[in-house]
Amino acid sequence: MPHVITETCLGETYARCAAVCPVDAIHPGIHNEQPFMVIDPETCIDCDICLHECPIGAIVGSADDNPAWAKVNAELAPKFKPNPPLEPRPADDQPRKPGHKLVR
Ligand code: SF4
Repeated sequence: MPHVITETCLGETYARCAAVCPVDAIHPGIHNEQPFMVIDPETCIDCDICLHECPIGAIVGSADDNPAWAKVNAELAPKFKPNPPLEPRPADDQPRKPGHKLVR
């Protein structure tokens, strides 16, 4: 089961996950008019590295943990894949949206 980026990433896109992914499975784009990133379930090898890299805990370790956003990741991945990578934000950069907190 692939890892999944959840709605907590909407408007944040720290992009640290994409920088550490060993198989280039994470791609940026726009979803619901906000910056977002997705994990391509066809490419993810479940190494778990990205989950520990996200400063706001936006990634879950299995599609079973968030089936609704797993579907969003799978649907958007082909569309986001050609987009150029984002410059990662520093891990201690404060979240842009109210309600989001640094968790690591
Ligand atoms: S679990 Fe590993 S392979 Fe899958 S998206 Fe995260 S870093 Fe990439």
